[in-house]
Amino acid sequence: MKIAVIGAGIGGLGAAIRLSLKGHEVTVFEANNYAGGKLTDIEVGGYRFDAGPSLFTMPENVTDLFTDAGKNPDDYFRYKRVGESCRYFYPDGTHFIAYDEPDRFAEECEKVLGVPQKKVRDYLAHSEKLFNLTADLFMKNSLHKLRTYLSFDTFKSFLQIHRLELTKTMNKANEDRLGHPKLVQLFNRFATYNGSNPYIAPGVLNIIPHLEMSIGTFFPEGGMASISRSVEKLARELGVEFEFNAPVEQILIDKNVAKGVRVHGKNRLFDRVVSNMDVVPTYRRLMPTQPAPERTLRQDRSTSAVIFYWGIRKKFENLGLQNIFFSENYREEFRFLSEVKNISNDPTVYIHISSVLEPDDAPAGCMNWYILVNAPHNTGQNWDEIIARTRKNVIKRLSKELGEDIESLIEVEDFLDPRRIEMRTSSFQGSLYGASSNGLFNSFIRHPNFSQRVKGLYFCGGSVHPGGGIPLCLLSGKIVADLIK
Ligand SMILES: Cc1cc2nc3c(=O)[nH]c(=O)nc-3n(C[C@H](O)[C@H](O)[C@H](O)COP(=O)(O)OP(=O)(O)OC[C@H]3O[C@@H](n4cnc5c(N)ncnc54)[C@H](O)[C@@H]3O)c2cc1C
Repeated sequence: MKIAVIGAGIGGLGAAIRLSLKGHEVTVFEANNYAGGKLTDIEVGGYRFDAGPSLFTMPENVTDLFTDAGKNPDDYFRYKRVGESCRYFYPDGTHFIAYDEPDRFAEECEKVLGVPQKKVRDYLAHSEKLFNLTADLFMKNSLHKLRTYLSFDTFKSFLQIHRLELTKTMNKANEDRLGHPKLVQLFNRFATYNGSNPYIAPGVLNIIPHLEMSIGTFFPEGGMASISRSVEKLARELGVEFEFNAPVEQILIDKNVAKGVRVHGKNRLFDRVVSNMDVVPTYRRLMPTQPAPERTLRQDRSTSAVIFYWGIRKKFENLGLQNIFFSENYREEFRFLSEVKNISNDPTVYIHISSVLEPDDAPAGCMNWYILVNAPHNTGQNWDEIIARTRKNVIKRLSKELGEDIESLIEVEDFLDPRRIEMRTSSFQGSLYGASSNGLFNSFIRHPNFSQRVKGLYFCGGSVHPGGGIPLCLLSGKIVADLIK
C-alpha cells in the first residue's frame, strides 16, 4: 500500500519505519526543513543545545527499530547509562544526588534525608509493580479495540486494578507511602514527565519513578537529537521518502474513506494516511468539514514550558547532566500552573547540561545550560512579561545557590516558549504532551490511534494514545503499524 505520514516527529518516524518494514511504500510530509519535530537541537554561538526533550528512558523503544530492521543499533545510535538520574537542590541548602540504581538511591535517601532505606526500597518496588500491571495494557495496545481486552495479560491487569491507587492523587499516595516532605516533593516531580499536576493526577502515575530510578536514565552520544537523526537515517535506508517544507493542507476524504493529502495545492493519492500532527489541528485545519470528537479535542492540555538556552562561560563542578532547584512551595507552584495559568515567582528550575557528558557541546571551560521552567499551556497570556519576569527569578535563584552572578556569565542565549512550540510543531496551545493526564480516565479518552469515522486514517504521536514523551510516541507508531493490515 502507499501510505502518507503527516509529520516527521519521532512518532511519525517510528510509524514510517514500521510500515516500511511491513512492505508498504511510505512518504513522510514534513512542514519544517528537518525531521524530529520537538526532538531536535539548536546551535547558538559555538554552543549546541538539545532543544526539546532532555531525559531519555526506555531506550529499547529506539533500538528495537534497528533490530527489527535487521540492523545493528550500534552502527546507528549509541547511548550510555548516566548513573545518576538528577541532582536535587532544596531551598534550605540540602543537596541530594538521586542515583538511578535502587539500592544506591535508597542509601543516599537514608544518608542525606534520614529516610529509612527499607521505606524507599518498598516505594520503588511498588512503582515497579504498578509499571508491570499497566505497561502492556496502557502503553503497548490500542485501548479502543476489543481484541485488547480479550488478551490474557489485559485480563490479569484488570483483576488487579484496585492496586493502581486510582482514587488517590499522586501527592496523597506519596505522602502515605513516604511521609517525608523532601522525598514526597522529589517523587511528585515525576508528574511533570507527562505535563501533569501531582496534586490532581492519580497515584497510578507513580509508575514513572520505576523507569528512571530502576530501569535507568540514559543519554545518547551526540545528544538527544541523535535519536531522531539516526532514526531518520534508518527510515531513508529502508526506502521511506521524505518531503520537507511540505505542510499538508488537507486530508482528502471521499465517502468517509481517506484518499490522500493535499500538499502545495496538489492532491496526492494514498491508500492510507497517518497523522503525526497534533490531533486538534489535524481535525480543525486538515479536515474542518468532518465531524470531530469534540469531547476528546476539548480535553485540558498538558503543561508547556519556558526554556532558556544559555552559554555559560564557566564550569560548575557541582552540577551534573540534570539538576533540579526546587521551589519552596510546590503546591503553590502547581496551583499557579493549573489555576492562575501563569508561572509563579518561585518556580522549580531544571537545568540540563549535555556538555557534562559531551564536552564538544560547549567551548572549553564553558557549559551549555538548558533551563526549563514548567509553564501553563498557551491561553493568550502575556508571554513577553512572563518570560522577562521568569528569567529574572531564575537568575536570582541560581546566583544565590551557586554563589556567582549568573547574569554576567551568560555568553549567548536563546529561548523557547509555548508560542514558539506551537509555531514550530503545531502542538495545540504549545503543550508538551498533548492532553493532560490529570484526570482518572484520561488514558481512555485520549484520541485513539485510528479514526472511528474515516476509514484508512490513523494517528500517532504525543497527542494521541498512549501519550507524550519519546517512548510513548514510538509505541504509538508501533500500534499504528499493527493496526494497518
Ligand atoms: C521543551 C520540551 C521538553 C520535553 N522533554 C521531554 C523529555 O525530557 N523526555 C521525553 O521523552 N519527552 C519530552 N518532551 C516531549 C517530547 O518531545 C514529545 O512528546 C515528542 O517529541 C513528540 O513527538 P511527536 O511524534 O508527537 O511529534 P512532534 O515532535 O510534535 O512533531 C510533529 C511534527 O509534525 C510536523 N507537522 C505538523 N503539522 C504538519 C502538517 N500539516 N504537515 C506536515 N508536517 C506537519 C511538525 O512540523 C513536526 O515536525 C519534551 C517536549 C518539549 C517541547
